[in-house]
Amino acid sequence: MKIFYALYELQPQNHYPKKAPPPVRKGALLKIQWSEDRIGFADLHPWPELGDPELEQHLSELRETRLTTMVEQAIWLATLDAQGRLEKRNIFDNQIMLRNNAIIGRIDPHTVELLDPLVKKGFSVIKLKVGQNMENEIQMINRIAITHNVKLRLDFNSKLTWNTFSKYLNGLSAQAKKMIEYIEDPFAYDPELWKEARQIIPLAIDWELDQIPLNQIEPVEADVLVIKPTHQDVNGRVEQAKKWNKSVVVTSHMGHPLGVMQCLQVAQELYKKDPKLMRDPGCMTFDVYEPTEFHSLLNIQGPYVRKVGGWGIGFDFVLKGQQWNQLKMR
Ligand code: MG
Repeated sequence: MKIFYALYELQPQNHYPKKAPPPVRKGALLKIQWSEDRIGFADLHPWPELGDPELEQHLSELRETRLTTMVEQAIWLATLDAQGRLEKRNIFDNQIMLRNNAIIGRIDPHTVELLDPLVKKGFSVIKLKVGQNMENEIQMINRIAITHNVKLRLDFNSKLTWNTFSKYLNGLSAQAKKMIEYIEDPFAYDPELWKEARQIIPLAIDWELDQIPLNQIEPVEADVLVIKPTHQDVNGRVEQAKKWNKSVVVTSHMGHPLGVMQCLQVAQELYKKDPKLMRDPGCMTFDVYEPTEFHSLLNIQGPYVRKVGGWGIGFDFVLKGQQWNQLKMR
């Protein structure tokens, strides 16, 4: 097996033109070659600020033939891609198109104006990244509850405490609470606190799921498991979700468009096998970044993503044009 990598940078969109642009995000595309005609691609896009090892650490472990979980997942996703390429088929063919949630990464006084165009495009589930300016957010969510008929997913990335959580919920109108499909990672996972919180509002566990061992028998205190195929053992987590009678939401890792397409492919496969288990995925994270040559090949219609031309996951020509370095393994 030969492994090649191509380093890349993605420039997050700057929503505040008066401020300096946010720092670029770094990742690597992997090209894994098992044989002359079995070649697959995947994305390695860690979030060290959310607990992932740095990119260089993944690569240096791989040089020593040790696999981090993310590299393991990348290799798995690359095998799916390679199979499609080998059989000369696009792995999005014959799939059910799934409706993604929209993502609003910041809440300011104009957020409500973003909703009309989204609803017109067909989005009915909106994920809000919250926990930055509580009062503004509460006001805005209460306003949305009056003006729009959408489902909301509120993601706090564990920024709250029990106190701020109850304060937040107390600030929301009854109508707003009714619109909330779930609250994701309100605060660090603690079975007792999460259990109590779940009695008030449904919870989803995303990054906090890393603390729950794959062989844990006792059900997690959440209603939904958020699975990022680039980060988690998908089959293991799905088995757990079934055993515990939880729903599954597949989301992207906010990484490279190729990796995001692979997350969506996994969501489609899981949906085909067990539609009742699955809720709308959240893989519509392409426009978090300034467009690249990969973005220009995407085929997005509202909440739906169609295939990108080529075999496997697609992108054949741009993949060929990347600067590939062979990873020297010991
Ligand atoms: Mg999350």
